[in-house]
Amino acid sequence: MCSQQLSVTGELKCLCARCSEMQGSCCRKKEILLTRGDRARISAYVGNDDFHELRVPVDPAYLEQDDDPNWNAWTLNERGERRQLRVREDRSCLFLAEAGCALPYEIRPIVCRLFPYTYNEGGILDVERECPTELLAPGETLMECLGMDQEKARRWHELLYSELREPVRE
Ligand code: SF4
Ligand code: SF4
Repeated sequence: MCSQQLSVTGELKCLCARCSEMQGSCCRKKEILLTRGDRARISAYVGNDDFHELRVPVDPAYLEQDDDPNWNAWTLNERGERRQLRVREDRSCLFLAEAGCALPYEIRPIVCRLFPYTYNEGGILDVERECPTELLAPGETLMECLGMDQEKARRWHELLYSELREPVRE
């Protein structure tokens, strides 16, 4: 998700806002995993603890982690549930606002910050093809537009796995 916001004139919108207007957006119909650190950071920022729930992922694809053998052990409890962000009735994220994510970058769940990079415990692997790159302005690159670079991704990947290694069974 981009770090840019709408300009004061409302004319220059970040890619994520444009994507969201088209009912695209990775913030709809996703099941966002929270680490214990995510929950603490978001809770401190929003001033409540009502934004998450324990649930078995609806989409079984979240459990297919063949290239990341520790992932399920670190994220699922004994009932097969994970700590996830709650969603609205239309399955959009509670924090999705008109101009994109309502949370500052450093508060967002780490898996959101890392999107659209793909990764496993060993490191960053590739980039998802989900973003509507056809909406980029001429000369704009996806990662510039999203305010992302390999160094940030590497730091967030490190943070994610260090928080995942903390025991989260509850
Ligand atoms: S899919 Fe890509 S462009 Fe769309 S909201 Fe997500 S990060 Fe932004
Ligand atoms: S927390 Fe923000 S970036 Fe993550 S899914 Fe929700 S709206 Fe999107």
